[in-house]
Amino acid sequence: MMIHTASDILNAKILIVDDKEANVLLLERLLRRAGYTSITTTTASHAVCGLYRQNRYDLILLDMQMPGMDGFRVMEGLNEIELDGYLPVLVITAQPEHKLRALQVGAKDFITKPFDLPEVLTRIHNMLQVRLLHRKSVRHSLVLEDTVQALREIETGLRTTQAVLSDEKAALDDHVDQLQQANETLVAVTLDAQTLTKETIKAKDELEYLAHHDALTGLPNRILLLDRLSKAIELARRQSGQLAVLFMDLDQFKHVNDSLGHGVGDQLLQSVAQRLVACVRQSDTVSRQGGDEFVLLLPHIERAEDAAISAQKILAALTPPHRIETHDLQVGVSIGISVYPGDGQNTDTLLKGADTAMYYAKESGRNNFKFFEKNMHERAVERQSMEASLRLGLERQEFVLHYQPKVDLGSGTILGVEAFIRWQHPTLGLLRPAQFVPVAEGCGLIVPMDRWVLREACRQVQSWLAAGLPPITVAINTSALEFRATDFLDNIRITLDDTGLEPHYLELELTESILMRDPESAISVLGVLADLGVTLAIDDFGTGYSNLSYLKQFPIHTFKIDQSFVSQMTTNPDDANIVSAVIGLGKSLKRRVIAEGVETPEQCALLLAQQCDEGQGYYFSHPMAPEAFATLHLSYSLCVNTCRT
Ligand code: C2E
Ligand code: MG
Ligand code: MG
Repeated sequence: MMIHTASDILNAKILIVDDKEANVLLLERLLRRAGYTSITTTTASHAVCGLYRQNRYDLILLDMQMPGMDGFRVMEGLNEIELDGYLPVLVITAQPEHKLRALQVGAKDFITKPFDLPEVLTRIHNMLQVRLLHRKSVRHSLVLEDTVQALREIETGLRTTQAVLSDEKAALDDHVDQLQQANETLVAVTLDAQTLTKETIKAKDELEYLAHHDALTGLPNRILLLDRLSKAIELARRQSGQLAVLFMDLDQFKHVNDSLGHGVGDQLLQSVAQRLVACVRQSDTVSRQGGDEFVLLLPHIERAEDAAISAQKILAALTPPHRIETHDLQVGVSIGISVYPGDGQNTDTLLKGADTAMYYAKESGRNNFKFFEKNMHERAVERQSMEASLRLGLERQEFVLHYQPKVDLGSGTILGVEAFIRWQHPTLGLLRPAQFVPVAEGCGLIVPMDRWVLREACRQVQSWLAAGLPPITVAINTSALEFRATDFLDNIRITLDDTGLEPHYLELELTESILMRDPESAISVLGVLADLGVTLAIDDFGTGYSNLSYLKQFPIHTFKIDQSFVSQMTTNPDDANIVSAVIGLGKSLKRRVIAEGVETPEQCALLLAQQCDEGQGYYFSHPMAPEAFATLHLSYSLCVNTCRT
């Protein structure tokens, strides 16, 4: 493979070194003729190294035998500066021993003097060929080295890049992991959020439900009822229809609650609620207002009688006893009815109307229903103003006590008195209990009123005793509210202490219904009173329902036969029988028996014949003001004593 051309060889840089000018010229001429173009000559051997450093000749024709610095020294110098380790020296010598030595120090060939010109040219040509080849190969190897170096650098670069890439890949993997995790977290959070949203909605629904329903019975509460009622009114107004509101209050529910506890009371309310729901239509609303009050809304009725039919259904549904735990409980209901539009145009009036009518249903014997009537409202208003003036009356001390004697039927002596409250009303005059006691009971004013009566009666009797009147007991009437007050006993002790009256002068009259409401606790309260020395009587005996087994356990001293039996006893054999039965019961239970409402000598004689202990009534004396009674008592006892003597 020719890797260089003829002109490459002819243009090669040649240096001719010979101390003899003629030799130099000869060789130069020879070479120029042969076509060589770049020829330098020198006769100064010491200049060769400098020239070579500058020009890097392709060929040096070097004479060996030169003065000063011979060819060997020149070659040594050249060896030091030759970079490629290739000395392009063609030695010119006449001495054969120089040839081998010259080759040993780095010469590549030699020509012999005298010159054989064709041989010289051939050797020069060959040597230049080798020289140029060498040059080329050196260049190639340099390029190769550079390439290798470059490749190495590329490789290092690649390795670095690979390392960087693998780092980046790891980072990327990490990133992907994190993203996946983040994604998973996001999914979890989203799920959580969804659950939370669902729970929030559920809680909101529950709250909504709780806000509109009664917790005990699950029935709509007052708020929901008002809402439905106002919507029903709106609809009825547009359709010119009618609707009814039934206000229901259980009879004697408090009795169950007080005697059997709230647990039983609650179950009874639930049972009542179920029966109410069962006997109305789907479109009707049964709601609980609180306590033992329920309201039924009939959003659409044809006529008022429809409401009456519903009321009758309810009364019938509640008649069978409720089985609660071990008890069979019977509870009635009083129902008041108001009808739109006749009785009211808005929720408030309709509910108030039904409530007022319910109150009248209760008053007229319970367990029935009453439609609202206009005058009921007026009476309700009257009631309210009565309450207000009662309060004022108490403050202004407008109350007085009248006293009625209790007479020993055998001896005719006055054993005691019963105190009755009277209200000296500023405009209405002297009022009897029937005109204000029910109102006072309804609003709780009965408690301060009874306490005033107790204190005043004790004070009065104590002052009579102090004044030297013959000793008598004083009986006062105790209301249910007062009997159940937590400080009832304390108040009695304090009053006796304050007035100085000895307990055995005080008698408390209680009705059967008060005692039977919660017989167990009545037994303990009565026990304390009896231990204190206070006398106890059952008032209006025979009108309530006494449980005989409790009756014998109550530490009661006296049964007071109700005046309704006494007044009829001479004309109605049933009443006569009841009177004698009560007297018999008293005897067998070792209780005293007193007949109240004795008005005639016949009644008195009959009672005496049946060995009734005491009598009280108009026949002996009307209740009278304290001063009048004091005078009567004094003269009466004088009279009795006189009769005896
Ligand atoms: P009560 O305790 O059974 O009293 C008997 C009622 O019959 C009294 O009426 C009395 O005045 C009246 N009365 C007495 N003798 C006769 C009679 O021969 N014939 C007739 N028809 N009535 C006679 P009053 O004073 O109007 O009292 C009525 C009820 O009011 C009492 O019945 C009692 O339950 C209650 N009450 C009276 N005063 C008080 C009081 O201070 N506190 C309380 N909580 N209730 C009282
Ligand atoms: Mg009485
Ligand atoms: Mg009575």
